[in-house]
Amino acid sequence: MAFFHLFPLRNCHVKTADATRPGDILTGMRILVVEDEKQIAGFVRKGLEEQGFKVDISHNGDEGYELAKSRPYDVLVLDIMLPGRDGLSIVNNLRKQRNPVPVILLTARSELDERVEGLDAGADDYLTKPFFVEELVARIRAVARRRDGESGNKVQIADLQLDLLSREAERGGRTIKLTAREFDLLAYLMRSPGRVYTRTQILEHVWGFNFDPNTNLVDVHIQRLRKKITAGDEASLIETVRGVGYRMVKEEA
Ligand code: CA
Repeated sequence: MAFFHLFPLRNCHVKTADATRPGDILTGMRILVVEDEKQIAGFVRKGLEEQGFKVDISHNGDEGYELAKSRPYDVLVLDIMLPGRDGLSIVNNLRKQRNPVPVILLTARSELDERVEGLDAGADDYLTKPFFVEELVARIRAVARRRDGESGNKVQIADLQLDLLSREAERGGRTIKLTAREFDLLAYLMRSPGRVYTRTQILEHVWGFNFDPNTNLVDVHIQRLRKKITAGDEASLIETVRGVGYRMVKEEA
């Protein structure tokens, strides 16, 4: 709770450098925010509306779930701990009904298991409280872009394709068996081809908590992933950026 006084300090400084433009896929996007802490819900609404989003707020999980089922939202922002149905159960049930709406979970620092569980349940991303509304806007843009850039829920680089709903990977027509962690890692890199992710960012995102920064966990997983996705003389799609981290190759348009 103590952190939330940070929000008002920043919520009037939403970055607009990348603001919506006519024809931007985000123009008029409708977002459902299910968050029972009214102060957070209020600042999120203000920040998102300033960016041109249409925002519905619900303070209750049961009501939020009914809204999510009955209206075509572009993105859902779900708190985990809610009166009524919790955020994880909302994602779970929507995915069971094959509802592909992008979902961003809001999690407390202490909710590590829930974060992992949430991604397993089919959430697209999560944001740890406290957060800046700019970051939420960036995540919303990212998940919305992904949705629009994919046919269904697929991301593709060269001949490598991930299905984010069924969590299947294939390259050149062959199925690649990945562990849950490898899949998350690959999906994370593939969402922004050409962008370099540091080991810390990857650890934080894929493992969800802080390891000793000297751990070689990321490097080991990247090596394993490279072997799995590269057969014969296929191009290596994951690049090492020396001293920084890793990125997926970016295809020339
Ligand atoms: Ca809550």
